[in-house]
Amino acid sequence: MTSTLPNSPPFPSIMQEVSQQVYPLSTLYVVATPIGNTGDITLRALNVLSIADAVACEDTRNTAQLLHRYGLSKELIAAHEHNEREAAAKLVSRLQSGQRIALVSDAGTPAVSDPGARIVDAVRAAGLRVMPLPGASAAVSALSAGGLLHDRFYFVGFLPVKARQREQVLEDLLAVPATLVFYEAPHRIAETTAALAKVFGPHRQIVFARELTKLFEEIHRCPLQEAEAWIAADSNREKGEYVLLVEGATAAASADDAEADRILSILIAELPVKQAAALAAQISGKKKNALYERALQLKQET
Ligand code: SAM
Repeated sequence: MTSTLPNSPPFPSIMQEVSQQVYPLSTLYVVATPIGNTGDITLRALNVLSIADAVACEDTRNTAQLLHRYGLSKELIAAHEHNEREAAAKLVSRLQSGQRIALVSDAGTPAVSDPGARIVDAVRAAGLRVMPLPGASAAVSALSAGGLLHDRFYFVGFLPVKARQREQVLEDLLAVPATLVFYEAPHRIAETTAALAKVFGPHRQIVFARELTKLFEEIHRCPLQEAEAWIAADSNREKGEYVLLVEGATAAASADDAEADRILSILIAELPVKQAAALAAQISGKKKNALYERALQLKQET
């Protein structure tokens, strides 16, 4: 029996095609890099990184290591949150001299909860071209695999660290009729989860999108009332990177409705539905019949 070698993969020819596309001079290329898995980089990003005169980056050590994985070595220019303005001026002058500069952050898409926006603003203000090279984004990856049904999403990013400010921001989001997207550091995941449950009540769904594209990737969805227990069930869950998605208010819901839901949820946990609705009507000033219907719904969901 003769065996034939499989056809060689089509990558070399597509890479050649990509390298022959137009990459204008005097342009800032905003390049998305992986959020964990080194394989998640586009062919166009690789090409731009290889032809760029320099790469502006958040952390030169990280970016040097990343480039090394792709067999690249480039001049690196530090452009982080503490020097973004000065870095922008330097980059503008290099672009004006005809160079191509790539801008990357430590992970994912620059200027999304990462430095980059000031540089882009300065380059555009100087009348120079900025080209996005789309790719990995933790927020979009979580939305794509989280399984919440949404037509809209609202990107919040990182919440304030101080409890009172954090709660205020969350309260302002109560009536937003869109999936809410949060970034959070691992050492704050437990307290942020508790704050989400406190403000949004027990019934909204939350999605924990943890360590996306990495070895210990985990995507878990549950009602907010189960969220704290899920974190506590495994000490590893206080480690790793997280995107949190929280189901939005239904289109008709208002901050008032959310508050009424909160009151009803507390009361139906202790009282018969009819009595809970009557008390909630007194507290909120809303119609008893509507609250009764809503209480029955909430009861069913628990
Ligand atoms: N610019 C990046 C992007 O495009 O998504 C985000 C950078 S922001 C400084 C870092 C935050 O993004 C982390 O604290 C975490 O909330 C989220 N994140 C980044 N990588 C992630 C991953 N692999 N899995 C889950 N969340 C991640």
